[in-house]
Amino acid sequence: MKLNELNVSVPYLSLEAEFHDKTDITPLKRPFLISHSPDAAELLGVDVDDQDEFLVKIMNGEAHLEGSEPFSMCYAGHQFGYFVPRLGDGRAINLGKSDSGWNLQLKGSGPTLYSRQGDGRAVLRSSIREYLMSEAMCGLHIATSRALALIGSEHDVARERWEKGAVVLRMSTSWVRFGTFEYFYAKEQFDKLEALADYVIDESYAHLKGKPDAYFLMFEELVDRTALLLAKWQGVGFNHGVMNTDNMSIAGLTIDYGPFAFFDDYDFDYICNHTDTNGRYAYGQQPNVAQWNLSMLMRALSPLINIERMQEALEKYSELYMNYYIGFIRKKLGLLTEDEDDLSTLRWLFGIMQQEGIDYNSFFRKLSRYECHKTALLEFCELQEPLSEWLDHYDKRLANEGSVSKDRHKQMLATNPKYVLKNYMLQYAIDKANRGDYSAVDEMLTLARAPFDEHPEMESFAGVSPKSVKNLKLSCSS
Ligand code: AMP
Ligand code: MG
Repeated sequence: MKLNELNVSVPYLSLEAEFHDKTDITPLKRPFLISHSPDAAELLGVDVDDQDEFLVKIMNGEAHLEGSEPFSMCYAGHQFGYFVPRLGDGRAINLGKSDSGWNLQLKGSGPTLYSRQGDGRAVLRSSIREYLMSEAMCGLHIATSRALALIGSEHDVARERWEKGAVVLRMSTSWVRFGTFEYFYAKEQFDKLEALADYVIDESYAHLKGKPDAYFLMFEELVDRTALLLAKWQGVGFNHGVMNTDNMSIAGLTIDYGPFAFFDDYDFDYICNHTDTNGRYAYGQQPNVAQWNLSMLMRALSPLINIERMQEALEKYSELYMNYYIGFIRKKLGLLTEDEDDLSTLRWLFGIMQQEGIDYNSFFRKLSRYECHKTALLEFCELQEPLSEWLDHYDKRLANEGSVSKDRHKQMLATNPKYVLKNYMLQYAIDKANRGDYSAVDEMLTLARAPFDEHPEMESFAGVSPKSVKNLKLSCSS
């Protein structure tokens, strides 16, 4: 189907007026299509091509999908621990929802009721990052919002310097945030909390609909989904950077890509967000922060659900998280059986990685072809003794469970990505784009879509990151 045949509906607008605001899209000057995601297009069941003028028009507010009524969503949130009673989509405008369940949303389309002092715009560099990362996380089998396309423009946007405005057409099965509930809780509008909970169950927990304690079951399942999501983030070395409750998805998805990064070298204390001086959202803190965020949601849901029951559900978070996480690392190590020493084995390894500054994803990829020949792995270290001892332990563990190299390698190569979109790779695409050459955006998209494949022509992005660009921090101003 052509994009102009796609119908959308706007179920969110059936919620009362305080939930949203109908918004006009402010067009960018001289927009042009930079890239589109064939996988996202397939999810929508639409055909999109490189010259798709209708897509550009849709993304620039110059054409409308059938049934679309653009609107922004209202929410609150805890930002760096402090409650902000009113945030909302300051630069995101929803177009509507496809029959297949995707809520289409433009990011960077101009001011909305919720823009406060902001201009409602997004600059090219941050849009390239969000566009690529939405597809990369999916490629890594991590729950995420998606991105259909990215447009650039000749529109000047003021940041620390003048930059060009861009728009990403994002799509998600839900854009409701923990902070959406917090908004109505703070205003003591408990009837609206209930309406929102019903909406969320319809949208993201449909299998619970009609059950007598559906609200509680929704919260309990979200605790589980969030634990799984965090285990995957930690497992792949992803630092979100701004885990405010307004950036936490009620459906357990990764949303709102800002100053995120995959770390290069393993670093438990890594902080990708330059403005996060205290490291509240440092890599190693993320699982705990998610739990704290869930506790803020729990409070917001307390008028609807018995708080003791929610507390009990939330107490299970740590164990759920740990089980998912260890299970994930076990797969990364190619281990088939469980051993009570597994946690100490992986802590031992990560201690060495931290000490030696070992490139996390490159190490696991190389380990995926390991056959008791240590040389290639010891090259990651200056001081080789500790890793060598750990590998002796690993060899024994593999021998004990009768591990077959060929089978193990196959599993590990499908678990440990050859390519993750490290910051320097995204920056490479951005630098080229700033010179008017957008080809690297599509090159990175190729890696994002199939991170476990070889891509021989892109081999230079597969190894250890160049020293000069390791574990950089990024600012939030995007
Ligand atoms: P974030 O941390 O990027 O998720 O943003 C926090 C809040 O600030 C959200 O409500 C955003 O919509 C809003 N915001 C961020 N940047 C802008 C901008 N350039 N214009 C308007 N609102 C913005
Ligand atoms: Mg946000």
